[in-house]
Amino acid sequence: MDYFAVFGHPISHSRSPWIHARFAEQCGFEQRYEAIDVPPERFEETLWDFGEAGGLGANVTLPLKEQAAVLCDELTEAAQRAAAVNTLIRLPDQRWRGDNTDGVGLMADLARLRVPIHGQRIVIIGAGGATRGILAPLLAAAPREIIIVNRTPERALQLAFESGALGIVQAWSLDDLASVDTAGLLIHATSAYRAGAPLTLPATLVDADTVAYDLGYGASAQAFLAQARRAGAGAGFDGLGMLVEQAAESFLRWRGVRPQTPAVLRELTALVNDRA
Ligand code: NDP
Repeated sequence: MDYFAVFGHPISHSRSPWIHARFAEQCGFEQRYEAIDVPPERFEETLWDFGEAGGLGANVTLPLKEQAAVLCDELTEAAQRAAAVNTLIRLPDQRWRGDNTDGVGLMADLARLRVPIHGQRIVIIGAGGATRGILAPLLAAAPREIIIVNRTPERALQLAFESGALGIVQAWSLDDLASVDTAGLLIHATSAYRAGAPLTLPATLVDADTVAYDLGYGASAQAFLAQARRAGAGAGFDGLGMLVEQAAESFLRWRGVRPQTPAVLRELTALVNDRA
């Protein structure tokens, strides 16, 4: 049976096995898709074993995405730009190709939600791996500007510099959030809420036209979105749609067919919200 996996540490929370089981069922493939918990120091040998056992492809999540990029034999342009891999593809000559579908997943979800990017002021709070993955596709959709705000401003500056679009992409410190102009699209990409340290969102950051989007999902995303609504944001969405869309893009790279996502997203949303 075709063998796939998701690697991470921890991994028990991952929805990827559930999502990929739905996709395989829908597209008529028989497959095994396992969640494999592996600490960084054992990732290289575990990936080797996985390949030896016939693994055809895998997803990679925290904290292994950057390491996966180093372990791959070749990287797609998206993975090179992100310096992080969330999708491993086994090539016919047994080498690993690394790709990053987070950016294309977010763009597909924003398109589904009919959130405009062109000409908008986008504020991204957070400058970690996820922001690194979504920056180039957002830039390609021609926003007016992208302001990256981060607790450690040097990391935001590094991303702005690497984007090759300094000026359009700006870097700010989280301490200066109250001075940032109102966002058309406010993207939350930190792990602050999970760390029990909610952000303070100034009312000047959002207005009735602002769409707030949290890359995460579950209780932490709901806490951010509730705060954004209280501050005056007109709409708010969590990252479940992005999660399903990036998974569909991984599936496409492995199987050559892109599964239908709406029903899977509806089911997953019900599942996650029932447990919230
Ligand atoms: P990283 O660990 O790479 O980055 C974490 C970010 O959070 C950094 O910017 C860090 O700031 C910031 N941060 C952490 N703690 C605090 C705090 N107490 N106060 C303020 N800022 C803080 O994580 P990722 O970028 O990979 O992931 C970010 C989010 O995106 C997660 O919720 C993740 O689940 C989600 N995600 C969702 C995906 C999806 O498909 N829906 C895909 C990928 C990610 P600093 O630089 O100062 O440390």
